[in-house]
Amino acid sequence: MREALARFEGFHIYPDPDQRALRAAIAEYVGVSQDQLLAGNGSDELIDFLCRVYLQPGDEAIDCTPTFGMYRFSTELAGGHAIEAPRDGSWRVDVDAVRESVDERTRLIFVATPNNPSGNTVDAPTVDALLETGSLVVLDEAYIEFAENGSFAPRVAEHENLIVLRTFSKWAGLAGLRVGYGILPPGVAEHLWKVKPPFNVNRAAEVAVRATIDDIDNVRGNIRRIMGERDRMARALSELPGLRVWPSRSNFILIQVLEGDAAELKDHFHRSGIAVRAYTHPRLQDSIRISVGLPSDTDAVVAALGGWLAKQGAA
Ligand SMILES: *Cc1c(COP(=O)(O)O)cnc(C)c1O
Repeated sequence: MREALARFEGFHIYPDPDQRALRAAIAEYVGVSQDQLLAGNGSDELIDFLCRVYLQPGDEAIDCTPTFGMYRFSTELAGGHAIEAPRDGSWRVDVDAVRESVDERTRLIFVATPNNPSGNTVDAPTVDALLETGSLVVLDEAYIEFAENGSFAPRVAEHENLIVLRTFSKWAGLAGLRVGYGILPPGVAEHLWKVKPPFNVNRAAEVAVRATIDDIDNVRGNIRRIMGERDRMARALSELPGLRVWPSRSNFILIQVLEGDAAELKDHFHRSGIAVRAYTHPRLQDSIRISVGLPSDTDAVVAALGGWLAKQGAA
């Protein structure tokens, strides 16, 4: 990927506004038609396009919380209201809560699968129930490559109101180059193309996507290694007392600290040279999200956490 960027000689030329080569490469990777695809400056840009196109001031978008913050951000920027349909005690999408939140102003329902930060995926019956509300259902599959065969991308062709968002940021390690995409029904694609700035995805991103797809076997090997480390970390953390470890199909693990203060644990990690994510959301105040990396990272996390928990017991 780095070599492809270094060799590339077209940086003085604007990107193709029709994204032909880029969409062809992504279509090959995902196994959908290029007509269904629109690439964005990160999938964040697709979230923004959807909110700008579908939300008039006062319209509503439903978020299944706790979840990724950009849905609310873009909803409110478009003048819409972000309505929370809280997930259940195991972080599953609560279909009844979503149904109760739907009213005549509802336009969009956002569901991250796997969810950030809980790491769980949504199942097909739940997606069917959401589609039956008639609102546009946006499945954000930013981490789907770590979930194995959980993607709803093939089902976009069967529904007028199903949208799948994906990105190269996480599994392909291209977060800094900003490239994501939507898999869209024709009626939605038509509208989103009208708001897309001509050169929204830069040429370095195009080159990196092509190189990633050309090197897909190696990249898949990395994904499998991360999934293996995730499962090893989950097992090791589950053996520690005083923690709840949520099953994850993503590249991070959410843990709940049953004894002691999660903010203090975050500081303890920080002193050990490990950056983790803590939360202010009321349901996540005792929780921490740990990203998965190399085997040595897993070992460092388990050692740091074990040390901290031992001190909690002694205190
Ligand atoms: C990281 C993330 C994104 C944003 O991805 P970009 O393509 O980098 O904009 C979207 N959704 C979720 C759930 C994420 O965690």
